[in-house]
Amino acid sequence: MPPTTCVRCQANKAVVKRPKNHHKLCRECFITVFEDEVHHTIISSKLFYPGEKVAIGASGGKDSTVLASVLKTLNERHKYELDLVLLSIDEGIKGYRDDSLETVKRNAVQYDMPLKIVGYDELYGWTMDQVVETIGKKGNCTYCGVFRRQALDRGAKTLGIKHVVTGHNADDVAETVLMNLLRGDLPRLSRSTSIVTGGSLNDVKRSKPLKYAYEKEIVLYAHHKKLDYFSTECIYSPEAFRGTARSLIKNLEKVRPSAILDIVRSGEDMARLTPDKGQGACACDEGEGMGGCGSANARMPGNELAQMEASTRDQPSDNGLETEITSNGTPKVNEDDVVKLPVRQRRSKEPGPVQLQTLGKCVKCGYMSSQAMCQACTLLENLNKNRPEISI
Ligand SMILES: [Zn+2]
Ligand SMILES: [Zn+2]
Repeated sequence: MPPTTCVRCQANKAVVKRPKNHHKLCRECFITVFEDEVHHTIISSKLFYPGEKVAIGASGGKDSTVLASVLKTLNERHKYELDLVLLSIDEGIKGYRDDSLETVKRNAVQYDMPLKIVGYDELYGWTMDQVVETIGKKGNCTYCGVFRRQALDRGAKTLGIKHVVTGHNADDVAETVLMNLLRGDLPRLSRSTSIVTGGSLNDVKRSKPLKYAYEKEIVLYAHHKKLDYFSTECIYSPEAFRGTARSLIKNLEKVRPSAILDIVRSGEDMARLTPDKGQGACACDEGEGMGGCGSANARMPGNELAQMEASTRDQPSDNGLETEITSNGTPKVNEDDVVKLPVRQRRSKEPGPVQLQTLGKCVKCGYMSSQAMCQACTLLENLNKNRPEISI
């Protein structure tokens, strides 16, 4: 096969076929185009203001590592004047988080950014290892996700920071859109598509600068920029329903490469039609799944991502054009894996007008919640009932 020329510069040899539109690009053009698209997202959504202090939710995984690297680059190139800090959560998962935190510590040096690490044990009195010891592996990602969401906010508050950016990508958002659509939960669909949540009612704002970036392109970017990230899967299983949505999207993508962005855009359009205005701040709504095992590679079916990373690493970069990966399995679906949360019990089976939620504060911890008690406190109450007879 003769070497293909980059469609953008018409000079260099193409080494990347963009999963998004199948454009064939050289390394330099791919990196430039990827960064320009994130810059466009940031500018068109007015994500930042000059002088803003921003915490990057950093797990050591590819998404947040790419986010930190791109934000550093764009901050310097376009003079955003942001004060960037890495904020990491230590869930207390031996053999997984220990190593990924080492990666974040190296990133802090590489990107010359301060790093703050907050532990679940200090925030909740439980490490994830202890949670799994108590409840087993079923549904533990729900706990992890709910705890993580509050942990980032609390960590940001201790640093006096009011804006946390996370590495959620287009695949994550598309999965969440589909999950909420399949559950018939339009208010939550509306919140999950927002690039910014919180800020008005909650004093910590969340945003997703990589919202329109494909996961596969994030892997390619990390590869071609030779970024240092942690690429072992979370040892606890991903949520079953999300896994199913993910497989569905991957299958759609095979016949229609734009499927992921199409779903994201459809979600945004549906959100505009949903009477849930101004309620984008509920702390609990993204907890489920969004960023649960948020770091590394839990998002692609089977070992797809691991294979893709292995193939990008093994191939000399002028030979890495082909990025099509075949899935080697469908995630197991087990009804028992789905943990029921109070928010869902509220929903009626009967069709009817979409309900508006009112947000108050959790009676236990004061965190913003649509229920009397926030999801984290509800989960903690369950856990503490089941706590083995040990004192810590
Ligand atoms: Zn080029
Ligand atoms: Zn609470």
